[in-house]
Amino acid sequence: MIWNEPMECMSREDMRRLQSERLKRTVEHVYQNCEPYRKRMQEKGVMPHDIHSIDDIVKLPFTSKKDLRDYYPYGLLSVPISEIVRLQASSGTTGKPIVVGYTRNDLAIWAEVGARCFTAYGLTKKDVVQVSYGYGLFTGGLGAHAATEAIGGTVLPTSSGNTEKQIMLMHDLGSVALACTPSYALFLADALLDSGIPREEFKLRVGAFGAEPWTEGMRRDLESKLGIKAYDIYGLTEIIGPGVGHECVCQNGTHLCEDHFFPEIINPDTGEPLPPGQTGELVFSTISKDGMPLLRFRTRDLTSLNYEKCACGRTSVRMARILGRCDDMLIIRGVNVFPSQVESVICELPELEPHYLLVVDRVNNLDTLEVQVEVNEKFYSDEMTKMLELKKRITHRLQSVLGITPDVKLVEPRSIERSQGKAKRVNDKRKLQ
Ligand code: ADP
Ligand code: ZN
Repeated sequence: MIWNEPMECMSREDMRRLQSERLKRTVEHVYQNCEPYRKRMQEKGVMPHDIHSIDDIVKLPFTSKKDLRDYYPYGLLSVPISEIVRLQASSGTTGKPIVVGYTRNDLAIWAEVGARCFTAYGLTKKDVVQVSYGYGLFTGGLGAHAATEAIGGTVLPTSSGNTEKQIMLMHDLGSVALACTPSYALFLADALLDSGIPREEFKLRVGAFGAEPWTEGMRRDLESKLGIKAYDIYGLTEIIGPGVGHECVCQNGTHLCEDHFFPEIINPDTGEPLPPGQTGELVFSTISKDGMPLLRFRTRDLTSLNYEKCACGRTSVRMARILGRCDDMLIIRGVNVFPSQVESVICELPELEPHYLLVVDRVNNLDTLEVQVEVNEKFYSDEMTKMLELKKRITHRLQSVLGITPDVKLVEPRSIERSQGKAKRVNDKRKLQ
Protein backbone atom coordinates (compact mmCIF):
# COMPACT_ATOMS: atom_id res chain seq x y z
CA MET A 1 0.00 0.00 0.00
CA ILE A 2 1.18 3.49 -0.84
CA TRP A 3 -0.09 6.57 1.00
CA ASN A 4 0.87 9.28 -1.50
CA GLU A 5 1.49 7.64 -4.84
CA PRO A 6 2.14 10.81 -6.87
CA MET A 7 4.97 11.76 -4.52
CA GLU A 8 6.34 8.33 -3.64
CA CYS A 9 6.35 6.98 -7.20
CA MET A 10 7.28 10.13 -9.13
CA SER A 11 9.78 9.78 -11.99
CA ARG A 12 13.33 10.71 -11.05
CA GLU A 13 13.20 13.60 -13.49
CA ASP A 14 10.02 15.08 -12.00
CA MET A 15 11.41 14.59 -8.52
CA ARG A 16 14.55 16.60 -9.39
CA ARG A 17 12.32 19.33 -10.79
CA LEU A 18 10.21 19.45 -7.66
CA GLN A 19 13.27 19.40 -5.43
CA SER A 20 14.81 22.24 -7.43
CA GLU A 21 11.73 24.41 -7.02
CA ARG A 22 11.44 23.66 -3.33
CA LEU A 23 15.12 24.25 -2.68
CA LYS A 24 15.00 27.63 -4.38
CA ARG A 25 12.04 28.65 -2.26
CA THR A 26 13.68 27.45 0.95
CA VAL A 27 16.96 29.23 0.24
CA GLU A 28 15.11 32.47 -0.44
CA HIS A 29 13.12 32.03 2.78
CA VAL A 30 16.10 31.41 5.07
CA TYR A 31 18.15 34.14 3.39
CA GLN A 32 15.40 36.66 4.03
CA ASN A 33 14.40 35.50 7.49
CA CYS A 34 17.29 33.82 9.26
CA GLU A 35 20.26 35.99 10.10
CA PRO A 36 22.84 33.21 10.65
CA TYR A 37 22.05 31.68 7.24
CA ARG A 38 22.19 35.06 5.51
CA LYS A 39 25.62 35.69 7.03
CA ARG A 40 26.90 32.21 6.17
CA MET A 41 25.79 32.54 2.58
CA GLN A 42 27.32 35.98 2.25
CA GLU A 43 30.59 34.66 3.65
CA LYS A 44 30.52 31.87 1.09
CA GLY A 45 29.67 34.33 -1.65
CA VAL A 46 26.44 32.61 -2.60
CA MET A 47 23.14 34.42 -3.08
CA PRO A 48 19.65 32.98 -3.53
CA HIS A 49 19.78 33.79 -7.26
CA ASP A 50 22.82 31.48 -7.60
CA ILE A 51 20.58 28.49 -6.87
CA HIS A 52 18.97 27.41 -10.14
CA SER A 53 18.45 23.72 -9.53
CA ILE A 54 18.95 21.04 -6.92
CA ASP A 55 22.45 20.47 -8.36
CA ASP A 56 23.46 23.86 -6.99
CA ILE A 57 22.94 22.59 -3.46
CA VAL A 58 26.69 21.94 -3.21
CA LYS A 59 27.26 25.72 -3.27
CA LEU A 60 25.45 26.09 0.04
CA PRO A 61 27.11 26.02 3.46
CA PHE A 62 26.76 23.03 5.77
CA THR A 63 24.90 23.18 9.06
CA SER A 64 26.15 21.16 12.03
CA LYS A 65 24.82 20.08 15.41
CA LYS A 66 27.19 22.66 16.87
CA ASP A 67 25.32 25.41 14.99
CA LEU A 68 22.10 24.33 16.65
CA ARG A 69 23.78 24.62 20.01
CA ASP A 70 25.46 27.93 19.19
CA TYR A 71 22.16 29.50 18.13
CA TYR A 72 20.24 27.94 21.01
CA PRO A 73 17.35 28.32 21.53
CA TYR A 74 15.68 30.30 18.73
CA GLY A 75 18.51 31.62 16.55
CA LEU A 76 17.84 29.34 13.58
CA LEU A 77 14.10 29.94 13.33
CA SER A 78 13.05 31.46 10.03
CA VAL A 79 9.64 32.58 11.29
CA PRO A 80 8.56 34.64 14.30
CA ILE A 81 7.86 32.62 17.44
CA SER A 82 4.16 33.47 17.04
CA GLU A 83 4.11 31.09 14.04
CA ILE A 84 5.61 28.23 16.03
CA VAL A 85 3.02 25.81 17.42
CA ARG A 86 5.33 23.10 18.82
CA LEU A 87 8.79 22.76 20.29
CA GLN A 88 10.71 19.49 20.56
CA ALA A 89 14.24 18.86 21.72
CA SER A 90 16.84 16.17 21.50
CA SER A 91 19.32 15.33 24.20
CA GLY A 92 22.30 15.96 21.99
CA THR A 93 25.51 14.57 23.33
CA THR A 94 26.58 17.17 25.86
CA GLY A 95 25.42 20.42 27.38
CA LYS A 96 22.47 22.31 25.96
CA PRO A 97 19.77 20.36 24.16
CA ILE A 98 18.97 20.93 20.51
CA VAL A 99 15.66 22.73 20.17
CA VAL A 100 13.47 22.61 17.08
CA GLY A 101 10.34 24.69 16.37
CA TYR A 102 7.49 23.62 14.07
CA THR A 103 4.83 25.70 12.36
CA ARG A 104 1.38 24.27 11.81
CA ASN A 105 2.41 23.41 8.28
CA ASP A 106 5.57 21.67 9.50
CA LEU A 107 3.46 19.49 11.78
CA ALA A 108 1.24 18.63 8.80
CA ILE A 109 4.35 17.54 6.85
CA TRP A 110 5.45 15.43 9.79
CA ALA A 111 2.05 13.69 9.94
CA GLU A 112 2.12 13.20 6.16
CA VAL A 113 5.51 11.47 6.12
CA GLY A 114 4.50 9.45 9.16
CA ALA A 115 1.40 8.28 7.29
CA ARG A 116 3.61 7.15 4.41
CA CYS A 117 5.67 5.05 6.82
CA PHE A 118 2.79 3.31 8.54
CA THR A 119 1.00 2.69 5.25
CA ALA A 120 4.17 1.14 3.83
CA TYR A 121 4.12 -1.33 6.75
CA GLY A 122 0.62 -2.38 5.72
CA LEU A 123 -1.22 -0.57 8.51
CA THR A 124 -4.64 0.96 7.96
CA LYS A 125 -7.37 2.80 9.84
CA LYS A 126 -8.54 -0.52 11.24
CA ASP A 127 -5.39 -1.03 13.28
CA VAL A 128 -4.50 -0.25 16.87
CA VAL A 129 -0.96 1.13 17.15
CA GLN A 130 0.77 0.96 20.50
CA VAL A 131 3.16 3.87 20.74
CA SER A 132 5.82 2.81 23.22
CA TYR A 133 8.34 5.45 22.24
CA GLY A 134 8.74 8.03 24.97
CA TYR A 135 6.38 11.01 24.82
CA GLY A 136 7.70 14.47 25.56
CA LEU A 137 10.57 16.48 24.17
CA PHE A 138 11.85 13.37 22.37
CA THR A 139 10.20 13.20 18.94
CA GLY A 140 9.56 9.43 18.99
CA GLY A 141 6.27 9.33 20.87
CA LEU A 142 4.51 12.33 19.37
CA GLY A 143 5.84 11.47 15.90
CA ALA A 144 4.42 7.94 15.87
CA HIS A 145 1.25 9.32 17.47
CA ALA A 146 0.70 11.81 14.62
CA ALA A 147 1.46 9.12 12.04
CA THR A 148 -1.20 6.82 13.47
CA GLU A 149 -3.82 9.56 13.58
CA ALA A 150 -2.98 10.58 10.02
CA ILE A 151 -3.85 7.13 8.65
CA GLY A 152 -6.96 7.08 10.82
CA GLY A 153 -5.63 4.26 13.00
CA THR A 154 -6.27 3.98 16.72
CA VAL A 155 -3.47 5.33 18.89
CA LEU A 156 -2.66 3.59 22.13
CA PRO A 157 -0.28 6.14 23.67
CA THR A 158 1.43 4.01 26.31
CA SER A 159 4.79 5.82 26.05
CA SER A 160 7.76 3.79 27.28
CA GLY A 161 8.10 2.04 30.63
CA ASN A 162 5.71 0.08 32.81
CA THR A 163 6.45 -3.04 30.83
CA GLU A 164 3.94 -5.43 32.39
CA LYS A 165 1.11 -3.00 31.78
CA GLN A 166 2.30 -2.62 28.17
CA ILE A 167 1.82 -6.36 27.67
CA MET A 168 -1.57 -6.36 29.34
CA LEU A 169 -2.81 -3.50 27.15
CA MET A 170 -1.24 -5.01 24.04
CA HIS A 171 -3.21 -8.15 24.74
CA ASP A 172 -6.50 -6.71 25.95
CA LEU A 173 -6.78 -3.88 23.43
CA GLY A 174 -5.52 -5.89 20.48
CA SER A 175 -2.51 -3.82 19.37
CA VAL A 176 -1.62 -4.70 15.80
CA ALA A 177 1.52 -2.59 15.65
CA LEU A 178 4.17 -1.73 18.17
CA ALA A 179 6.21 1.45 17.71
CA CYS A 180 9.33 1.69 19.89
CA THR A 181 13.11 1.38 19.83
CA PRO A 182 14.40 -2.07 18.80
CA SER A 183 16.02 -2.41 22.22
CA TYR A 184 12.76 -1.75 24.01
CA ALA A 185 11.04 -4.20 21.67
CA LEU A 186 13.47 -6.88 22.87
CA PHE A 187 12.62 -6.03 26.44
CA LEU A 188 8.91 -6.29 25.64
CA ALA A 189 9.51 -9.60 23.84
CA ASP A 190 10.88 -11.09 27.06
CA ALA A 191 8.00 -9.62 29.04
CA LEU A 192 5.52 -11.13 26.60
CA LEU A 193 7.09 -14.52 27.13
CA ASP A 194 7.10 -14.07 30.92
CA SER A 195 3.42 -13.16 30.90
CA GLY A 196 2.61 -16.76 30.01
CA ILE A 197 -0.18 -15.55 27.70
CA PRO A 198 -0.20 -17.66 24.52
CA ARG A 199 1.06 -15.78 21.47
CA GLU A 200 -2.13 -16.58 19.54
CA GLU A 201 -4.05 -14.33 21.90
CA PHE A 202 -2.12 -11.28 20.65
CA LYS A 203 -2.95 -9.50 17.41
CA LEU A 204 0.51 -8.01 17.02
CA ARG A 205 1.93 -8.30 13.50
CA VAL A 206 3.99 -5.17 12.76
CA GLY A 207 6.91 -3.45 14.48
CA ALA A 208 7.89 0.16 13.65
CA PHE A 209 11.35 0.25 15.10
CA GLY A 210 13.94 3.01 14.99
CA ALA A 211 15.63 5.89 16.82
CA GLU A 212 18.82 3.84 17.18
CA PRO A 213 20.96 1.68 14.91
CA TRP A 214 19.95 -1.98 14.60
CA THR A 215 21.18 -4.80 12.40
CA GLU A 216 19.62 -7.43 10.15
CA GLY A 217 20.43 -9.99 12.83
CA MET A 218 18.49 -7.97 15.38
CA ARG A 219 15.57 -7.83 12.93
CA ARG A 220 15.52 -11.62 12.58
CA ASP A 221 15.65 -11.99 16.32
CA LEU A 222 12.81 -9.54 16.95
CA GLU A 223 10.70 -11.03 14.19
CA SER A 224 11.00 -14.54 15.56
CA LYS A 225 10.60 -13.60 19.22
CA LEU A 226 7.59 -11.38 18.66
CA GLY A 227 6.16 -13.25 15.68
CA ILE A 228 5.88 -10.04 13.62
CA LYS A 229 7.36 -8.22 10.63
CA ALA A 230 9.81 -5.64 11.94
CA TYR A 231 10.23 -2.47 9.86
CA ASP A 232 12.75 0.31 10.09
CA ILE A 233 11.67 3.89 10.72
CA TYR A 234 14.29 6.62 10.57
CA GLY A 235 14.31 10.21 11.66
CA LEU A 236 16.03 12.90 13.61
CA THR A 237 14.75 15.86 15.57
CA GLU A 238 16.69 18.48 13.63
CA ILE A 239 15.04 17.46 10.36
CA ILE A 240 11.54 16.65 11.68
CA GLY A 241 11.53 13.48 13.83
CA PRO A 242 10.57 9.89 12.94
CA GLY A 243 9.26 9.65 9.39
CA VAL A 244 12.21 11.02 7.43
CA GLY A 245 12.45 7.48 6.07
CA HIS A 246 10.83 4.06 6.31
CA GLU A 247 11.08 0.55 4.97
CA CYS A 248 8.48 -1.04 2.73
CA VAL A 249 7.33 -4.67 2.53
CA CYS A 250 10.45 -5.50 0.48
CA GLN A 251 12.60 -4.69 3.56
CA ASN A 252 15.41 -3.83 1.25
CA GLY A 253 16.47 -0.32 2.20
CA THR A 254 14.82 2.63 3.93
CA HIS A 255 12.88 4.89 1.53
CA LEU A 256 13.54 8.57 2.20
CA CYS A 257 10.78 11.16 1.82
CA GLU A 258 13.00 13.11 -0.51
CA ASP A 259 10.31 15.51 -1.71
CA HIS A 260 10.64 17.04 1.78
CA PHE A 261 14.15 16.11 2.89
CA PHE A 262 16.85 16.14 0.24
CA PRO A 263 19.66 13.68 1.05
CA GLU A 264 23.34 13.77 0.10
CA ILE A 265 26.25 11.54 1.09
CA ILE A 266 29.57 13.22 1.78
CA ASN A 267 33.03 12.20 2.82
CA PRO A 268 32.92 13.06 6.54
CA ASP A 269 36.55 14.17 6.54
CA THR A 270 36.58 16.43 3.49
CA GLY A 271 32.91 17.35 3.05
CA GLU A 272 33.11 16.32 -0.63
CA PRO A 273 29.98 14.68 -2.11
CA LEU A 274 30.31 10.92 -2.75
CA PRO A 275 28.77 9.03 -5.70
CA PRO A 276 25.64 6.88 -5.19
CA GLY A 277 26.34 3.57 -3.48
CA GLN A 278 29.34 4.79 -1.49
CA THR A 279 29.16 4.91 2.28
CA GLY A 280 29.64 8.25 3.95
CA GLU A 281 27.94 10.83 6.13
CA LEU A 282 24.28 11.51 5.44
CA VAL A 283 23.38 15.17 4.95
CA PHE A 284 19.83 16.54 4.72
CA SER A 285 18.34 19.78 3.49
CA THR A 286 14.72 20.37 4.42
CA ILE A 287 13.04 21.77 1.31
CA SER A 288 9.45 22.28 2.44
CA LYS A 289 9.57 23.30 6.10
CA ASP A 290 8.99 26.87 7.22
CA GLY A 291 9.72 27.07 10.95
CA MET A 292 13.32 25.98 11.13
CA PRO A 293 14.50 24.86 7.70
CA LEU A 294 18.03 23.49 7.71
CA LEU A 295 20.40 23.54 4.75
CA ARG A 296 22.85 20.67 4.33
CA PHE A 297 22.56 19.47 7.90
CA ARG A 298 25.31 16.98 8.75
CA THR A 299 23.61 14.10 10.54
CA ARG A 300 26.83 12.24 11.53
CA ASP A 301 24.98 9.05 10.46
CA LEU A 302 26.90 6.74 8.12
CA THR A 303 25.09 5.06 5.24
CA SER A 304 24.82 4.89 1.43
CA LEU A 305 22.04 5.68 -1.07
CA ASN A 306 20.46 3.60 -3.82
CA TYR A 307 18.44 5.40 -6.53
CA GLU A 308 17.08 2.31 -8.27
CA LYS A 309 13.34 1.81 -8.34
CA CYS A 310 12.16 -0.53 -5.60
CA ALA A 311 10.11 -3.66 -6.26
CA CYS A 312 7.33 -2.10 -4.13
CA GLY A 313 6.78 0.49 -6.87
CA ARG A 314 8.25 3.45 -5.03
CA THR A 315 10.89 5.44 -6.86
CA SER A 316 12.11 7.30 -3.78
CA VAL A 317 15.76 6.83 -2.93
CA ARG A 318 16.61 4.08 -0.45
CA MET A 319 19.18 4.32 2.29
CA ALA A 320 21.16 1.34 3.55
CA ARG A 321 21.02 0.46 7.24
CA ILE A 322 22.78 3.07 9.34
CA LEU A 323 26.14 1.68 10.32
CA GLY A 324 26.21 4.04 13.29
CA ARG A 325 26.99 7.65 13.96
CA CYS A 326 30.49 8.95 13.29
CA ASP A 327 30.47 9.67 17.05
CA ASP A 328 29.69 6.02 17.88
CA MET A 329 32.79 4.81 16.14
CA LEU A 330 35.33 3.53 18.62
CA ILE A 331 38.97 3.65 17.77
CA ILE A 332 40.58 0.74 19.55
CA ARG A 333 44.29 0.24 19.04
CA GLY A 334 43.93 2.28 15.88
CA VAL A 335 41.16 0.08 14.49
CA ASN A 336 37.68 1.49 13.79
CA VAL A 337 34.94 -0.46 15.54
CA PHE A 338 31.18 0.08 15.39
CA PRO A 339 28.87 -1.49 17.98
CA SER A 340 26.67 -2.62 15.06
CA GLN A 341 29.50 -4.91 13.83
CA VAL A 342 29.54 -6.64 17.19
CA GLU A 343 25.75 -6.89 17.13
CA SER A 344 25.77 -8.59 13.73
CA VAL A 345 28.13 -11.30 15.02
CA ILE A 346 26.14 -11.81 18.21
CA CYS A 347 22.90 -12.21 16.29
CA GLU A 348 24.43 -14.92 14.10
CA LEU A 349 24.98 -17.26 17.03
CA PRO A 350 21.91 -19.04 18.41
CA GLU A 351 23.57 -19.53 21.79
CA LEU A 352 23.60 -15.78 22.41
CA GLU A 353 20.96 -13.20 23.25
CA PRO A 354 21.15 -9.82 21.49
CA HIS A 355 21.93 -8.07 24.76
CA TYR A 356 25.49 -6.83 24.88
CA LEU A 357 27.80 -4.14 26.16
CA LEU A 358 31.20 -3.02 24.90
CA VAL A 359 33.55 -1.96 27.66
CA VAL A 360 36.58 -0.07 26.42
CA ASP A 361 39.51 0.78 28.65
CA ARG A 362 43.19 1.62 28.53
CA VAL A 363 45.54 -0.59 30.51
CA ASN A 364 49.28 0.14 30.48
CA ASN A 365 48.74 2.50 27.55
CA LEU A 366 47.04 -0.20 25.53
CA ASP A 367 43.38 -0.06 24.55
CA THR A 368 41.29 -3.02 25.62
CA LEU A 369 37.87 -4.12 24.43
CA GLU A 370 35.66 -6.37 26.49
CA VAL A 371 32.48 -7.65 24.89
CA GLN A 372 29.93 -8.69 27.47
CA VAL A 373 27.15 -10.77 26.02
CA GLU A 374 24.26 -12.73 27.44
CA VAL A 375 23.98 -16.44 26.84
CA ASN A 376 20.60 -17.86 25.93
CA GLU A 377 18.76 -19.62 28.81
CA LYS A 378 18.76 -22.87 26.88
CA PHE A 379 22.52 -22.85 26.38
CA TYR A 380 23.51 -21.33 29.67
CA SER A 381 25.37 -24.08 31.37
CA ASP A 382 27.53 -24.69 34.34
CA GLU A 383 29.65 -26.94 32.23
CA MET A 384 32.95 -25.19 31.98
CA THR A 385 34.13 -26.88 28.81
CA LYS A 386 30.98 -26.02 26.89
CA MET A 387 31.15 -22.38 27.88
CA LEU A 388 34.84 -22.13 27.09
CA GLU A 389 34.25 -23.60 23.67
CA LEU A 390 31.48 -21.07 23.01
CA LYS A 391 33.66 -18.22 24.20
CA LYS A 392 36.45 -19.30 21.88
CA ARG A 393 34.11 -19.46 18.93
CA ILE A 394 32.72 -15.96 19.53
CA THR A 395 36.16 -14.49 20.05
CA HIS A 396 37.33 -15.98 16.81
CA ARG A 397 34.33 -14.69 14.89
CA LEU A 398 34.61 -11.18 16.37
CA GLN A 399 38.31 -11.16 15.63
CA SER A 400 37.72 -11.84 11.95
CA VAL A 401 35.00 -9.18 11.66
CA LEU A 402 36.62 -6.44 13.77
CA GLY A 403 40.28 -7.00 13.07
CA ILE A 404 41.16 -6.91 16.76
CA THR A 405 40.83 -9.54 19.48
CA PRO A 406 38.30 -8.64 22.13
CA ASP A 407 38.01 -10.21 25.53
CA VAL A 408 34.62 -11.96 25.48
CA LYS A 409 32.74 -12.23 28.74
CA LEU A 410 29.72 -14.52 28.70
CA VAL A 411 27.17 -13.36 31.23
CA GLU A 412 23.99 -14.83 32.64
CA PRO A 413 20.70 -14.38 30.83
CA ARG A 414 18.97 -11.11 31.75
CA SER A 415 21.97 -9.63 33.52
CA ILE A 416 22.73 -6.73 31.15
CA GLU A 417 20.76 -3.60 31.87
CA ARG A 418 17.66 -3.26 29.69
CA SER A 419 16.69 -0.08 27.90
CA GLN A 420 13.27 1.51 27.58
CA GLY A 421 14.47 4.04 25.03
CA LYS A 422 17.74 4.19 23.17
CA ALA A 423 20.12 1.47 24.35
CA LYS A 424 23.54 2.26 25.73
CA ARG A 425 25.93 -0.20 24.08
CA VAL A 426 29.28 1.27 25.01
CA ASN A 427 31.05 2.07 28.24
CA ASP A 428 34.23 3.87 27.21
CA LYS A 429 36.25 4.23 30.37
CA ARG A 430 39.07 5.93 28.48
CA LYS A 431 36.98 9.09 28.33
CA LEU A 432 36.94 9.31 32.10
CA GLN A 433 40.70 9.18 32.49
P1 ADP B 1 19.63 12.33 19.79
O1 ADP B 1 20.70 12.96 18.96
O2 ADP B 1 19.44 12.94 21.11
O3 ADP B 1 19.68 10.83 19.82
P2 ADP B 1 17.27 12.11 18.03
O4 ADP B 1 16.23 11.45 18.84
O5 ADP B 1 16.86 13.16 17.11
O6 ADP B 1 18.33 12.71 18.99
O7 ADP B 1 18.03 10.94 17.27
C1 ADP B 1 18.27 10.91 15.90
C2 ADP B 1 19.35 9.92 15.64
O8 ADP B 1 18.95 8.59 16.03
C3 ADP B 1 19.70 9.79 14.18
O9 ADP B 1 20.57 10.79 13.76
C4 ADP B 1 20.35 8.40 14.15
O10 ADP B 1 21.67 8.46 14.62
C5 ADP B 1 19.51 7.63 15.15
N1 ADP B 1 18.44 6.91 14.46
C6 ADP B 1 17.15 7.27 14.34
N2 ADP B 1 16.46 6.33 13.64
C7 ADP B 1 17.33 5.37 13.30
C8 ADP B 1 17.23 4.16 12.57
N3 ADP B 1 16.09 3.72 12.07
N4 ADP B 1 18.37 3.44 12.39
C9 ADP B 1 19.54 3.86 12.89
N5 ADP B 1 19.69 4.99 13.61
C10 ADP B 1 18.61 5.73 13.80
ZN1 ZN C 1 10.16 -0.26 -1.47
